[in-house]
Amino acid sequence: MAQPLIVAIDGPAGAGKSTVSKILALRLGFTLVDTGAIYRCVALSARRANIKFDDVPGLAEILGGLEVTFRTDEDKNHVFLKGEDVSEAIRTPENSLAASQVSAQPTVRAALLGLQRKLALAAEKGAILEGRDIGTVVFPDANLKIFLFADPKIRAERRFEELYSKGHEKPVGEVLADQNKRDKEDSEREHAPLKAADDAVQIDSTHLPLSEVVHRIEELVSRLSRPKVGL
Ligand code: C5P
Repeated sequence: MAQPLIVAIDGPAGAGKSTVSKILALRLGFTLVDTGAIYRCVALSARRANIKFDDVPGLAEILGGLEVTFRTDEDKNHVFLKGEDVSEAIRTPENSLAASQVSAQPTVRAALLGLQRKLALAAEKGAILEGRDIGTVVFPDANLKIFLFADPKIRAERRFEELYSKGHEKPVGEVLADQNKRDKEDSEREHAPLKAADDAVQIDSTHLPLSEVVHRIEELVSRLSRPKVGL
């Protein structure tokens, strides 16, 4: 059976990856794998069980029992942790910072590698994976690699609006400070840091409407002729 087409969308927080990936997945009929949500579920499980983010045996236990599933609706990509809808709980500001910390642990990254690949390769037609290291580590042979970025202030404003719409009133300056901290941790960590793959198509969404970003990526997907994924 032919391998599904693999589209990697990497980039920092707030560049528009989630919105763009969700719309693309719906339009193309591809499976969406929100890899950040998986790291967020590990962080939420650790916080709930009072396990420190550097407690390797504690994290290993969580990883052993981790059950994350997704369901994409018209309006939203729902994330379930052991059957519980945690779509909102994993996106609080506290859990965002926690996700960045647990994701720096090599034990966590190694355990999630197989899961991310399995979810994508189970797709019938194609899979869109959004994250930080998809094009560099998870699928270095992805059919298409996108690195989506934007000016940090614009990204913080977008995140502020998203949080505000969900009832989290956090000043935009604090949102920017949290984002800078996450960007720094994600790009400077030793294992699988956030960086563009050499062969990634870089898209700056600072002044581009996300609909235009979707359009550009759709155009690139339509040019892909045949699958070439191999691990
Ligand atoms: O993409 P999102 O903001 O939901 O990701 C949450 C955190 O998970 C990121 O800040 C990053 O630390 C981590 N992550 C990662 N590798 C990925 C996806 C997310 O380290 N592929």
